[in-house]
Amino acid sequence: MAGRGPARKGSFLYRDPGWEGKVRADRATIRSSIDPMTTRRLLLLVLFLILLSCRGKDAPAPKAAKPLTGAAKGWNVILLTVDTLRADRLGAYGYKARPNSPNVDSQLASGVTFDNAMSQRASTWPSLASVLTGLYPSGHGVNENGYGFPDDLPTLPKLLHAAGYQTGAFLSNMCQANHQGWDAFACSGGQDGKDIRRALEWAHGVDPHRPFLLWVHLFGAHPPYYNGGDGAEKMDPGYQGPLGPRKKLLDPVMTKPIALDARDVQHLDALYDAAVQGSDRISGALLQGLKDAGRLDRTVILFAADHGEELYQHNRYLYHSCSVYQTTLHVPLGLSAPGLIPAGARVPQIVELIDLLPTLLDLLGVAKPAEQHGKSLISYLEQPDGRRRSLPAFSEYGSSTIHTVLQDNWKLVHNPDGISPVCIPDAPPNHYPIAKEELYDLSRDPGEKENLAAREPARVAELSGLIQRRFAGLRNRVRQQKVPEKLQEELKSLGYVAH
Ligand SMILES: [Zn+2]
Repeated sequence: MAGRGPARKGSFLYRDPGWEGKVRADRATIRSSIDPMTTRRLLLLVLFLILLSCRGKDAPAPKAAKPLTGAAKGWNVILLTVDTLRADRLGAYGYKARPNSPNVDSQLASGVTFDNAMSQRASTWPSLASVLTGLYPSGHGVNENGYGFPDDLPTLPKLLHAAGYQTGAFLSNMCQANHQGWDAFACSGGQDGKDIRRALEWAHGVDPHRPFLLWVHLFGAHPPYYNGGDGAEKMDPGYQGPLGPRKKLLDPVMTKPIALDARDVQHLDALYDAAVQGSDRISGALLQGLKDAGRLDRTVILFAADHGEELYQHNRYLYHSCSVYQTTLHVPLGLSAPGLIPAGARVPQIVELIDLLPTLLDLLGVAKPAEQHGKSLISYLEQPDGRRRSLPAFSEYGSSTIHTVLQDNWKLVHNPDGISPVCIPDAPPNHYPIAKEELYDLSRDPGEKENLAAREPARVAELSGLIQRRFAGLRNRVRQQKVPEKLQEELKSLGYVAH
């Protein structure tokens, strides 16, 4: 949530003005314009309306919630994940500067949209592994790009395959992560057009008498933003500065480093938005192709991003893997199941990407693995409103001791060992400084610019205690894996520091 676009209900920026103010104003109007003989009767009426208003706030929802556990038994599942897609650059999340996302907005509007979904790490492999396992990165062990799933770990494809599903994965990133459980698997390494052609071909050929799980991961708006084509030139013509949709034009901002001025940042925004628009068109083509093939009947569609992008908003950093901020941790998330889940509903509570797996398995009536770090969101789907308090959300940072926690509007970045990460190859030392404690009040400071840790020691202690308690006792599979040299080179070409 970087503060772009208007505040909307469900976001941390939204504050309901409350019924009290409205009633006070109405009462003043009544007093000034009505005959005093009738004032007493009118005041009684107003009192009654106030009581009714109070009751309305606390009374149960008028309609009984439809039980959803097992309601999608035997349905198909489509998991569409888009790399590096910031929630706040989508129309569905209030972005108005450009029409970035008509197709994604429409998909999100067809089901429930989660306003405050949090990634568990702003890095592709760890984050996507959390989606597929329902575990924090320390729990699944894919804690860096280049690491593979442990052989014995239950994952979404393995679980659904065992439940009789046909399984196909068509990915643009995270190619060599020891993926298991897929009948069909192909990874294009950044060619989204190829991925959707392969996905549609596979979907055409599935046995219509058995359900399928299709996972498509698009390269999306990942740097160097080439899915935007020449869109940025059209959106922001006449730019003469150093930036462009090529790695050799973006990396020097961090490696040399080169300071960007407001005009450069304007062009950076255009480069990114163009890539978001390109991703939206590709997502739309995939969904339309599946619809035309008759593959969207009795189908649950999950839409998510693995993380967002910094875009020079902290530490003069453009990319994502190093970021501990909402620019990269706040992600779009939606779930649709026509006829089961209400269209157009919003869930304002904070949720985590690790919640997707238990939620989906509950919907499908498939047993969950014993080890789960996420929680089922079924109750939010049955009754999407803001009545219940959010649970906190956490992120981890590789095998380091850095964590973040978000509880209500308070965000703590906890770096007890004062680690200063290296975010891209050849960057100068300490180019991404993270303080030992950074505390932000997102309701007042959504851009996370004013560190309140020194002023609020009790809150820091409370939130760091939450981190300690959350991870105490969880099985930790973090380990250093040997990443083959060829893969190290591939990761480096994406701007990642290979381990
Ligand atoms: Zn990614």
